[in-house]
Formats: sequence, structure tokens, C-alpha cells
Amino acid sequence: MPIDPTQPYDNANIFAKILRGEIPCNRVYEDEWALAFEDINPQAEIHTLVIPKGAYVSWDDFSARANAEEIAGFVRAVGMVARDKGLVEPGYRLLANTGVHGGQEVPHLHVHLFGGQPLGPMIL
Ligand code: 5GP
Repeated sequence: MPIDPTQPYDNANIFAKILRGEIPCNRVYEDEWALAFEDINPQAEIHTLVIPKGAYVSWDDFSARANAEEIAGFVRAVGMVARDKGLVEPGYRLLANTGVHGGQEVPHLHVHLFGGQPLGPMIL
């Protein structure tokens, strides 16, 4: 079910539990601002999720409330994961599903990093 974007942050969401170490993940990167781990149901050869450490429901919430340090730290972490995975050449795709029309299922901001294969044209 897509999330209801009007709801406040839910501390019981699955990515909050991953951040607290209550459920396991296949971690690929972590720093002060972000955690990256492999998607449990990969849609491409490489499908990694990058999430901020702060409690943000969505891209909308993050872009509105996060401070400049958090935003810079998170954006740098996404780029670092892509570089660490050797994706800069031949390239990769980032996606942040947001709200109901975006089909967002987990109510903690996550950026999908896809790569490792030609991804074709952008599709809806
Ligand atoms: P959304 O549709 O919210 O943008 O994407 C949520 C993503 O989280 C999906 O790609 C789904 O496979 C992934 N996911 C859901 N639950 C878990 C989990 O418990 N562990 C991991 N690693 N990924 C998850």
C-alpha cells in the first residue's frame, strides 16, 4: 500500500527498525548521515537503497525540513555508494518514490540506486 503522506513519521516503519539494528540488512555503506543497504527484492543487477539517518517520511519531508548539513551528507553518501560500486561509468539511475502517486511503500525517505545493466528508457 502506498503511504499516506499526511501522516507523521512512524517510528515503527521497517527502515526505522533497520536503522536501529532491530532487523538485519545487507549493509553496503554507513556514515553519520546515511545508511545504504541492498534492496530485499532487487529490480536490477544492482539495486541499493540509501536512507538518511534522520526521521524523514519522504523526499518532500526531507527537502522541506532537513538542514543543509543533513542534505549535503545524504547527497554525498548517495554519490559515494554509486562510486564505490563502480557505477559512474557506464552510469546508473536514482529514484525516490514520493507519496501515493509516487507509489512510495515505506514511509522513511529512501533513494533507489539502480545499475549494473542497461536500464532502458525511463518508464512510469
Ligand atoms: P518504495 O516503493 O517505498 O519506493 O520502495 C520500498 C523498497 O523497499 C522496495 O524496493 C522493497 O523491495 C524494499 N524493502 C521493503 N522492505 C524491505 C526490507 O525489510 N529490507 C530491505 N532490504 N528492503 C526492503
